[in-house]
Amino acid sequence: MRIANVDGRLVLATSSERGIDVEKASNGRFTADPADIFDRWSEFVEWSAGLNGTAPDTDLTPTRLGAPSPAPAQVFAIGLNYHAHADESGFDIPTSPVVFTKYRSALTGPVTTVTLPPNGQTDWETELVVVIGKEGKAVSEDAAWDYVAGLTIGQDLSERITQRQGPAPQFNLGKSFPGFAPTGPWIVTPDEFANPDDIALGCTINGSEMQNGRTSQLIFSIPSLIAHLSSIVTLHPGDLIFTGTPAGVGLGRDPQVWLAPGDELVTWVEGIGELRQSFVA
Ligand code: ZN
Repeated sequence: MRIANVDGRLVLATSSERGIDVEKASNGRFTADPADIFDRWSEFVEWSAGLNGTAPDTDLTPTRLGAPSPAPAQVFAIGLNYHAHADESGFDIPTSPVVFTKYRSALTGPVTTVTLPPNGQTDWETELVVVIGKEGKAVSEDAAWDYVAGLTIGQDLSERITQRQGPAPQFNLGKSFPGFAPTGPWIVTPDEFANPDDIALGCTINGSEMQNGRTSQLIFSIPSLIAHLSSIVTLHPGDLIFTGTPAGVGLGRDPQVWLAPGDELVTWVEGIGELRQSFVA
């Protein structure tokens, strides 16, 4: 099952082009606001299974799509979670997850134009993003997938100067300029993947491949991230976890490469689709 945010309304996708408006098809049982559905996720999954034969009534034009979880209480992001990316960043392999946040104000849908911060070094990070579907505290790794509503794509855009500024650098602000957290195009439930712990992902800039990895290469798997985070904080329905990026970011190249005005970044994840960002000064 896949859900999208179309012009701010919750839509159940029936193909990559068409979908069903949930508020209308449920006669108001579920609201139109895509942010509301995660609190009632299991009820919604059950209802959607009985919809066979309902005609699609909404076009999923990519430019109409918003962030599929538009108002998460918390956005977690994991640094250095692939060996080769930790190497290219000049860090040791972490022994526990490196966690930061991308502020919610940076969230957008899948197709956007992003203004590059002046005098910055803006980099790309292709990531699989977990969307939480059930409140979780002290969740075990074995139970972790039961707490996942679905998976989506995220770009962890990162301005490296701000990210590394100061005597005790924190990542959050450098990763939270306006538009620095595109997500989408929709949320796909874990059952749609042959193995949700082994999904290919990557990106291109102006058609050239920059990243290409698999989530089976994660140092801390999705279940171990959910177990770790929920051992400290309570996970809430709609929360996002950016799970980390494979090798191939601009920071790790020789010479280093930064996003420039006119660039087009296409970020893809197998079984989900793509994000498309263009950049202006
Ligand atoms: Zn990242």
